[in-house]
Amino acid sequence: MSKVVFGIDVGGTTCKCGTFSEDGRLLRKDEIPTRKDEGGSLILPDIRDYINGVLSDMNLTKDDVTGIGMGVPGACLEDGTVNKCINLGWGVFNAANVLSELTGIPVKIGNDANMAALGEFWVGGGLEYNSMVMVTIGTGVGGGVIIDGKPLYGYYGAAAEIGHMPLVDGETERCNCGKKGCLEQVASATGIVRTANRMLTESDMPSSLRAVPYISAKVIFDEAKTGDALAIQVTEYVCRYLGKGLACAAAMVDPEVFVIGGGVSAAGEYFINLIEKYYKEYAFHASRDTKIVKASLGNDAGMYGAAKLILG
Ligand SMILES: [Zn+2]
Repeated sequence: MSKVVFGIDVGGTTCKCGTFSEDGRLLRKDEIPTRKDEGGSLILPDIRDYINGVLSDMNLTKDDVTGIGMGVPGACLEDGTVNKCINLGWGVFNAANVLSELTGIPVKIGNDANMAALGEFWVGGGLEYNSMVMVTIGTGVGGGVIIDGKPLYGYYGAAAEIGHMPLVDGETERCNCGKKGCLEQVASATGIVRTANRMLTESDMPSSLRAVPYISAKVIFDEAKTGDALAIQVTEYVCRYLGKGLACAAAMVDPEVFVIGGGVSAAGEYFINLIEKYYKEYAFHASRDTKIVKASLGNDAGMYGAAKLILG
């Protein structure tokens, strides 16, 4: 049997683990819990144990593995250094070296949003293109830039932090990053709900949202699609900022395509079209017609991208 590659997406609650053949076929997919206790020090040993288990199931040894690619939720450098993953309790250390010492297998790491972008670029929404910017809109807003098939890390490992573009003037509350006015505060799933609650409080406009006991981003988009005026106002506001963020990204990168992923992208064409409307309003004339498409790999994107980091 030819060699295998592992693609592991380390998330705040679970690690999504894929075993791939060297020609890029997904052979096996699992999820293991992310144990964040003890400062996150159990996470890499747990991944080692998982990998050893898979190799034993497949009658393989570490010599049959080309490498392990790993996406992590924080800033990281191409040399494997993690510059804090607050979600995991990790500080600054070389996570690739640690996992490589634990397993005896070469390891490469990347930021999780960058890995999702690489996955979409490889086999998802970015498949037909040479350069792309991905925006993942879920609990937060993540970004990834792929140029000539390679993810952009940045000098400090913080390239493509689109969610923390400081676009919103006058914001009074703080973002998770500690600053005020980040795109994420408006456009993440939580940001969309926050925006809706704010508009519901500040206006007397009748809205079906007032009768909803638990407002989610999905409910807001569903109501906007049925014509609820306040829900429409929320989605317009959110997508205006997203369009502006993409226009800023285009001014730097000028990608061939934008790929929109994350839970909120389930709002579909309505959401994509609204982002596009505002993107065209803000974008520099030469980049005005950049395509905006929906991601297609869902939660598996990061796992695919991590494997692609090894496959090259
Ligand atoms: Zn922020």
